Amino acid sequence: MVQSSQIETGLRAELARISESEGLIVALDFDGTLAELSSDPWGVRALPESVVEIERLASRTDTKVAIISGRSLHALKRVVQFSSTVALVGSHGAETESKSPTVLTEIETQLLEQLREAHREVQAQFPGAEIEIKPAGAALHTRALGSLENTEEAQQYLLTLVAELDHDHKIHHRYGKEILEFTLRHSDKGEAIQELKSEFEAQAVLFIGDDVTDEDGFAVLTPQDVGIKVGEGQTRARFRVGSPVQVARVLELVRQPESNRNP
Ligand SMILES: [Mg+2]
Repeated sequence: MVQSSQIETGLRAELARISESEGLIVALDFDGTLAELSSDPWGVRALPESVVEIERLASRTDTKVAIISGRSLHALKRVVQFSSTVALVGSHGAETESKSPTVLTEIETQLLEQLREAHREVQAQFPGAEIEIKPAGAALHTRALGSLENTEEAQQYLLTLVAELDHDHKIHHRYGKEILEFTLRHSDKGEAIQELKSEFEAQAVLFIGDDVTDEDGFAVLTPQDVGIKVGEGQTRARFRVGSPVQVARVLELVRQPESNRNP
């Protein structure tokens, strides 16, 4: 059994409170939250102890568990294997298993191809940079470039190329941890959480994430909800834990608040 002693008292009390909610949404980011960050996007897996806790929570009738990732739904499915009671949400909320696939106009399709070409050009100039293809966009991963300077240089080059082709300002961009992402369809984790809330009657939401793109999720939480930031960096979340290992402990405390009283 994982230990709960490293979770701060205030957070433990809040987890005990929401565990008694009539209807709870547990929304979790994947990379850096359930899984340690890695330069191999396909090799990462959620920590086994978190997988166990997620399955246990998802088997409750009053709890909805959703994994909300910036990855495309396809890329998310390659790295997670949960039972069907766990909802998978990709592309920061743009893709769910029940939503119809993204449909682009002909002009948007051409623009998307130019956007991906711009990514390939930057990749050719900066060996080690990785391109992630998404249904309505693309992302440049710079974790393997080694220095902040190289990352900034590669991102600036890509921003310049995209600005040249985006005459009608149709392309949105956002930064994550060593990732710069462009999309023709805006969506964010705040919208994804609101959609879950309207779909499932819930008294409270627990949302956990590690990246700047998770801040949209923390922004829509109410005082009944609990937001937890994983790791360093500015945040709107009320609480913070140090690592994915502690995320597993948090999930255990939601499922089993009595371990809260006897850490
Ligand atoms: Mg993350």
